[in-house]
Amino acid sequence: MGYKFSFRPHSQRFTRPVITNHGVWEIRDCIIVHLMDEQGTSGWGEIAPISWFGSETLAAALDFCHQLPTEITEETIFSIPDSLPACQFGFESAREGLGGNPYQCTHLPYSALLPAGAAALNQWQPLWEQGYRTFKWKIGVQAIAQELEIFHHLIHQLPDATQLRLDANGGLSYEDARLWLERCENCPRNIEFMEQPLGVEEFSQMLALSQSYNVAIALDESVSTLKQLESCHRQGWQGIFVIKPGIIGSPSRLREFCHAYQLDLVFSSVFETSVGRQAALQLAAELSPPHRAVGFGINYFWM
Ligand code: MG
Repeated sequence: MGYKFSFRPHSQRFTRPVITNHGVWEIRDCIIVHLMDEQGTSGWGEIAPISWFGSETLAAALDFCHQLPTEITEETIFSIPDSLPACQFGFESAREGLGGNPYQCTHLPYSALLPAGAAALNQWQPLWEQGYRTFKWKIGVQAIAQELEIFHHLIHQLPDATQLRLDANGGLSYEDARLWLERCENCPRNIEFMEQPLGVEEFSQMLALSQSYNVAIALDESVSTLKQLESCHRQGWQGIFVIKPGIIGSPSRLREFCHAYQLDLVFSSVFETSVGRQAALQLAAELSPPHRAVGFGINYFWM
């Protein structure tokens, strides 16, 4: 099967910069991929790398697109190297888009991302009114004493029916992670999970933490690509895995892996446009456990 291939770079500025332990992020750059089959049917995909999270750079993805001919084959798509995971996702999802997608994503519960710091205290309510019941709050951004105090206020403000996720983006020390986990255990509100408390290189310490506390721990940065996901699973991770379809790599290989093992997954956005979002949500509709809200409630940053 041959496809006509074209692409164009796309940039969008966040209305509010995304602040995480990795720094301040203001502009989302991506590449929109277009495939057309022999019947003239179109399929679109999005390459939305986050190199500081473990994917290729935008420049590497652009180089890859530039060196391709204008006619490509299935073999081209399925032989994209593992060093270009966002390209694997963009091209495979464009190809899958040609057939129309059978999965409905309308039933998925969504998690909303709160701004870091004390701004979260003013922001959860409008999101609650929009129907969100799961919130994620970034920690490890300010001094721990300050954040623990905001956390204390936040959990006392949030209504009973809410689930709170804490995301440290790998920015805590082992001691601070223990302090946070102790606070979570003694918290009157159910903390759904703590995400990536320590850096990627501190896997064994996170494994130890996950065995010492009742609060669930999710790996995110540690499993940004399929190879890392397979490796952490092989090393005995029993907790949650955050899947960012946009950068994890090949969707077909992700499906195979998820069908082979019973994994507790949380699907999450990489701030993609509606093209990548649609493809990522299709995958979530197919593979996400129904009780785990998907991390695609990010409208706050675009509007
Ligand atoms: Mg995260």
